[in-house]
Amino acid sequence: MYPLLLSLLILPFMATDMMKEARFTPKDLPYAYDALAPELSEETLHYHHDKHYVGYVNKLNELIVDTPFADQPLEDIILSADGPIYNNAAQAWNHEFYFDQLSPRPRKEPSGALLEAIDRSFGSLDELKAQMSKAAAGLFGSGWVWLAEDKSGRLAVVSEANAGNPMRHGMRPLMTIDVWEHAYYIDYRNRRPDAVEALWNRIDWKVVGDRYERR
Ligand code: MN
Repeated sequence: MYPLLLSLLILPFMATDMMKEARFTPKDLPYAYDALAPELSEETLHYHHDKHYVGYVNKLNELIVDTPFADQPLEDIILSADGPIYNNAAQAWNHEFYFDQLSPRPRKEPSGALLEAIDRSFGSLDELKAQMSKAAAGLFGSGWVWLAEDKSGRLAVVSEANAGNPMRHGMRPLMTIDVWEHAYYIDYRNRRPDAVEALWNRIDWKVVGDRYERR
């Protein structure tokens, strides 16, 4: 009788502690681990998702306990935190955004309002791809290359070091390339430009277009 009573008494405290630990839950990949091969291997996606991305989410959960960020939405943390909390929050968000835009059956071309915006800002999809590929090859060290919309509605290619996210400059992210070595080293070793070239085959312009039209 006593053990049951004791369990009932401490259950609410256990639940509170568990909720604190799991403020954010890592999202599953929206496709099978082997679904993006050969551009991204099953092994790369296991490491990239299960070790790196999940690691950032777990670390963030740990860091925000008993801070003013503990109850904030992820975007609010990214906009106002600095240091390790910012880094892990942005890495969590950036990776979800990155994985969501890839597909086993991508729509290969943008259409509608997004296509018009790309043509207005870059002249053509090929020019946008060339600028992003060049930025990805040229970014020193670890970081992210973004397609983002500025406040005037113009699309721009933005290079960010480390966990950088263009939301911090009041821009709206539409698509991103992860140029951290962990994103490509298993499949492409040091050949980052080859990894970026291959990634274009997996970008789903339907997802990017939906992001553009969501306001
Ligand atoms: Mn990554």
